[in-house]
Amino acid sequence: MLNDEHVELRKSVEEFAREVVAPVIGDYYERCEFPYDIVRKMGAMGLFGLPVPEEYGGMGGDYFVLCLALEELARVDSSVAITLEAAVSLGEMPILRFGTDAQKQRWLPKMAAGEILGAFGLTEPGGGSDVPGGMRTTAVLDGGEWVINGSKAFITNSGTDITGVVAVAAITGRRQDGRPEISTILVPSGTPGLTVSEKYSKVGWSASDTRELSFTGCRVPEENLLGERGRGYAQFLQTLDEGRVAIAALSVGLAQGCVDESLRYVRERRAFGQEIGRYQSMQFKIADMEARVHTARLAYYHAAERMLAGLPFKKEAAIAKLVSSNAAMDNARDATQVFGGYGFMNEFPVGRFYRDAKILEIGEGTSEVQRMLIARELGLPA
Ligand SMILES: Cc1cc2nc3c(=O)[nH]c(=O)nc-3n(C[C@H](O)[C@H](O)[C@H](O)COP(=O)(O)OP(=O)(O)OC[C@H]3O[C@@H](n4cnc5c(N)ncnc54)[C@H](O)[C@@H]3O)c2cc1C
Repeated sequence: MLNDEHVELRKSVEEFAREVVAPVIGDYYERCEFPYDIVRKMGAMGLFGLPVPEEYGGMGGDYFVLCLALEELARVDSSVAITLEAAVSLGEMPILRFGTDAQKQRWLPKMAAGEILGAFGLTEPGGGSDVPGGMRTTAVLDGGEWVINGSKAFITNSGTDITGVVAVAAITGRRQDGRPEISTILVPSGTPGLTVSEKYSKVGWSASDTRELSFTGCRVPEENLLGERGRGYAQFLQTLDEGRVAIAALSVGLAQGCVDESLRYVRERRAFGQEIGRYQSMQFKIADMEARVHTARLAYYHAAERMLAGLPFKKEAAIAKLVSSNAAMDNARDATQVFGGYGFMNEFPVGRFYRDAKILEIGEGTSEVQRMLIARELGLPA
């Protein structure tokens, strides 16, 4: 499935992650600081524009290229990888897929250059899995403007110094059958009535930006509607299907990073007079880790292949996300064990991998939600 362009891109991101990210990211992580300098360099490399057409300042690649970049970044660090994933997959893709030409012209060139970041506001304090059941945010048309009220929880990239716009899912009315009508509205940073909270204190992804947003009489022009009114539900389902393939790639990267670090460590650490890599229990652990990462990678390649071919890929994306987030969790636990006490120290990457793995079973649809999607695709009742 990899062509020359894919191989070349993967190699350059691998080098960037190893040479630019790895030496400094641990300190950013410890300080819970957003790595502006790294993000600026990723922008200069064109990573934020990988799947964006050249006419909007992007690299004109496909979504699979983005996945490969995410995998290579997450091999070294997941905060950086999720910053790219959320900016492109959740921030840019909805504008690219559903935006008007004016919206694309306004936002995409700066986003593709990494000069500004986009965010995607779906989850609310009252519920992330149960959308729209837990959704309370509303938007009402008044004098040619949308007036937004409500709040959003856990929104990635929503409060950095370079955040430019948040796509907000809101209830804009009721359908004939009584169900809420959901639409997506673009809210530029700094709009009066939008309040960005302090960063959450998180277990992992500590160098990424995650915030709560609240909207109080927040007014934006009517033309900030993204796509058709009432199509918000369909839009985020499509966005999340793609996003799951990207999160699967990121999970595979973390799982691979655990193999990389473990292979290195068992050759240098000695116990009872020999390298610990000579013990079968260590070898079996690493063999299991390698088997998980290999099968998870095949799962996301397969989902991406169907997506790019225009075939249905909902089930494959859910499977890829489920198995690869499991692989990341299992590999992080095993790699920490391989490192013994040093695995529990933040100065070693495996400690970071351990803290970063859990969210992969939660974000962009929990593992339970993935199982629900797979069951529905198999024809089982909702
Ligand atoms: C660091 C971070 C970054 C995030 N970034 C974003 C972002 O950029 N944009 C955004 O919109 N959201 C974002 N999220 C939100 C994330 O997508 C949600 O946290 C996730 O979808 C789960 O929703 P919830 O937290 O409300 O959990 P809930 O939906 O309350 O789920 C709680 C538990 O109940 C289970 N559950 C719920 N319903 C069922 C069911 N029917 N059957 C079985 N089990 C069920 C869940 O699987 C879970 O185990 C982020 C979250 C985090 C932590």
